[in-house]
Amino acid sequence: MKENHKYSLPVLLYHRIVNEQSVRGKHKIYVWEKDFEKQLLYLKNNGYEAITFYDVERNPTMDLRNKVIITFDDGYEDNYRLLFPLLKKYNFRAVIYLVTQIGYNAWGVKEGEPRVDMMTDVQKREMCVYGVEMGGHTQTHVDLSRCTDAELVKEIGDCRADVERLVNKKVISFAYPFGGISEKVKRATKEAGYKFAVSTNTGPKEFGADNFQIRRIEVTPKTSLRSFKSKVSGYYFYPSFIKSFFTGKQTK
Ligand SMILES: [Zn+2]
Repeated sequence: MKENHKYSLPVLLYHRIVNEQSVRGKHKIYVWEKDFEKQLLYLKNNGYEAITFYDVERNPTMDLRNKVIITFDDGYEDNYRLLFPLLKKYNFRAVIYLVTQIGYNAWGVKEGEPRVDMMTDVQKREMCVYGVEMGGHTQTHVDLSRCTDAELVKEIGDCRADVERLVNKKVISFAYPFGGISEKVKRATKEAGYKFAVSTNTGPKEFGADNFQIRRIEVTPKTSLRSFKSKVSGYYFYPSFIKSFFTGKQTK
């Protein structure tokens, strides 16, 4: 174990939960409902707590062990229909990043994904009241690294105002679509008033090292439960540690 490993709060990345073949889509941005339930059950049985960025903001020095942040991008209707009942069943919270000015996945349809509607405002509010954190994910799901300054203000800042109006609450976190990031984009996000911003698979390994490029760990339909365990271990970015993490646990 030569690598210098350090525990880091796992921030998981999901998009959709599905329960029928026909709606899956080719980009594999879904997880089967039954697999997702197994993942929540694993977290529950192992004493995990699913926190939100509001918790981190309120208590920046909190002990992050046995905690996880579960994030969903875009705001698909299945988040209300399939995710929400499971969150309530296992008493977990999540963070959902909303596209505020398009009612369906227009950007995905362009690339051959099935059309999926976003949640209604009423559904988003109900989830927010339950304790799901709603964050920004731009107004029209653009690659921010290609935007002008004026577009950045609209896509990042006006998006924040949209979500705040919707949930009547201060919005503090943001997700960059397509992981499109530059120093300029990060600065614009900070200036728009957010306190945290999540990327896809870029940024430092350690949670808290850069609050405007927080690395996430994607969960896909191919993620086995064994792989999920390593993803929430807090040491996922240290492959040699993960190897030893599993040795001795496999026979259980
Ligand atoms: Zn997205």
